[in-house]
Amino acid sequence: MADIVVDQVSKSFGSINALKEIRLEIKDQEFVVLLGPSGCGKTTLLRIIAGLETASSGSIRIGGRDVTRLPPRQRRIAMVFQNYAVFPHLTVFENIAFGLRMAKKPDGDVKRQVGRVSQLMHIDHLLERYPAQLSGGQRQRVAVARALAVEPEVLLMDEPLSNLDALLRLEMRTELKKLLQESRTTTIYVTHDQVEAMSLADRIAVMRNGDVEQYDVPMAVYQRPATRFVGSFIGNPPMNFLNVRRGSGQVLIGEAAIAALVDLPSEPVMGVRPEDLSVVTPNSPNAFPAHVMVIEPLGPHLLLSLDVDGQMLRATVPPDLEVKAGATLWLRPHSDRLCWLPRAAA
Ligand code: ATP
Repeated sequence: MADIVVDQVSKSFGSINALKEIRLEIKDQEFVVLLGPSGCGKTTLLRIIAGLETASSGSIRIGGRDVTRLPPRQRRIAMVFQNYAVFPHLTVFENIAFGLRMAKKPDGDVKRQVGRVSQLMHIDHLLERYPAQLSGGQRQRVAVARALAVEPEVLLMDEPLSNLDALLRLEMRTELKKLLQESRTTTIYVTHDQVEAMSLADRIAVMRNGDVEQYDVPMAVYQRPATRFVGSFIGNPPMNFLNVRRGSGQVLIGEAAIAALVDLPSEPVMGVRPEDLSVVTPNSPNAFPAHVMVIEPLGPHLLLSLDVDGQMLRATVPPDLEVKAGATLWLRPHSDRLCWLPRAAA
């Protein structure tokens, strides 16, 4: 069992509070992504879990064992970094074997283990090559294979795809997901790329300013963001947030009633994804008028920027919709996809 408990972990660098009483539980074999903008504390948290940095307060448990004061090599973890440093003077075989040699494993065991992980990573035909003779994606797989070869209980990855070009990154993302599903290692993965987080994670911890703002499965984070920051950070274009009013039994945008009154905060903000707005005929029920400001054709859809009662809104609509800038459209939000936040929390 390699579940991880991050218990009230704080970290200060002088006057900077990089982490503020972080609490996270990661289940055995779970794939958790730490997601957030630059400087929010992702790498610091990962380094504290690895033992490369000490927490100012709080504790880390791995598989029920308190590792807070243990050095990295006693934590049974392996790490893959952004630059996935592989040794240029060693063959792929020796790169993967590195940790096993350090642990003084007998040759037979080393051979067996390198064979096993190189098959898992689909690089078993490359074992005699040197890193310079590999593509970026292959080198990356060598780095992951080397980490997995020591059979860590926990795999920690810090932006392992960030050095790859966009297409390779997409390919490797799919590949990594498949490989890690097969390896069943508890994994914590740091990224600032929300698409990567959505695609890979069992659960995402969305971080901001040293805090975790939401920790949940990807679709819950996407559809029911706990804060305005989460709704804006995840999704491209981001979620819209509109100030709405409470009418008699209705929620109003301007003068238009758009939903029956749910259990709303006193000063509500309505969150709606751009793809959850449908164009309907004028004066349809539960719809509101909006003025088209800008139209951007993006291929699979048009991205419209609209003005609603003095507020800016984005909607994605079918690419063949006949619409011109300056027109008024009526939009109906998907009633079961709306989220409501108090203005203060937004
Ligand atoms: P990025 O995505 O840019 O790597 P991050 O979310 O991983 O960012 P961290 O590297 O964890 O963020 O940094 C969190 C905060 O702590 C930042 O304000 C950073 O400047 C600060 N920080 C990190 N390491 C140190 C250090 N060794 N000394 C001083 N401040 C540090």
